[in-house]
Amino acid sequence: KDIPAGGSKRVLLAAPRGYCAGVDRAVIAVEKALERYGAPVYVRKQIVHNIHVVTELEVKGAIFVDEVDEVPEGAHIVFSAHGVSPAVVDAASARGLQAIDATCPLVTKVHKEAVRFAKNDYEILLIGHDGHEEVEGTAGEAPDHVTLIGSPAEADTVEVRDPDKVVWLSQTTLSVDETMQTVDRLRARFPNLQDPPSDDICYATQNRQVAVKKVAVDADLVIVVGSANSSNSVRLVEVALENGARAAHRIDYAYELKQEWFDGVRTVGVTSGASVPDVLVNEVLAALAEAGYADVEPVTTAEEDLVFSLPKELRTQANGDR
Ligand code: SF4
Repeated sequence: KDIPAGGSKRVLLAAPRGYCAGVDRAVIAVEKALERYGAPVYVRKQIVHNIHVVTELEVKGAIFVDEVDEVPEGAHIVFSAHGVSPAVVDAASARGLQAIDATCPLVTKVHKEAVRFAKNDYEILLIGHDGHEEVEGTAGEAPDHVTLIGSPAEADTVEVRDPDKVVWLSQTTLSVDETMQTVDRLRARFPNLQDPPSDDICYATQNRQVAVKKVAVDADLVIVVGSANSSNSVRLVEVALENGARAAHRIDYAYELKQEWFDGVRTVGVTSGASVPDVLVNEVLAALAEAGYADVEPVTTAEEDLVFSLPKELRTQANGDR
């Protein structure tokens, strides 16, 4: 892209960005559990993949653990937004833990699809990242029926039992375009491959990718606020680079911005992943303003107003159905 000499510097601020309904609900669930039961409240894995959110909840009295056997018997445990396998639910119950399930309802939807297709003896090709908590949870619903497809290339080599009884499902936070390439490659080999009943990649992931694409077309540099283990944040960097940004970087905090990224840059795109509170984006905007990028233009590609009700364990008359 040509950078007009002496042109005014500006920021294109993508919307939607930041918190999705599932993250909002999961974070409120931990806060409500702390209010109701007092500290400490245990949380299995990071409640959402954002270091700032996790640190703030730790200060309030949440203790994050990797597995349920680290939690004292009888204590409260919150399952993270990414979901858990039935084996984890059983282990928590065997330990007498009081579980609060903050799994995003859109992840639960994929779990139910896995259960249903497994019941009908389908082989499930689960497109997702090996080792991601959500993938472990979904695969754990039907371990004997799920094969993980970790990259488009794996679509070319995977072997199935019966090519007429295969369905693909996916992690909720993937790149839409890359996932469709994987599905095309799978379908070239298995023409009767069945699609999920509805999109597994969630509305928030899709909306943030559409918005960053629009920003990237006009941006010399795109800054994505989000943590390294946040799948949807990392995907935003890739999508920006594939759609016209000359450079794109992911940061957790404003202080990570590097001066050399801005050489010759006139237009900076800014967005954030679905687990990122807007306070972190505002700090980035303030740092950019100090560097001369004070003119902020919103680029809005969708409006979001989805709100999920709290996990059932935390719903009462007093705090409504939120
Ligand atoms: Fe739910 Fe999507 Fe948010 Fe994940 S990114 S918590 S699936 S809404």
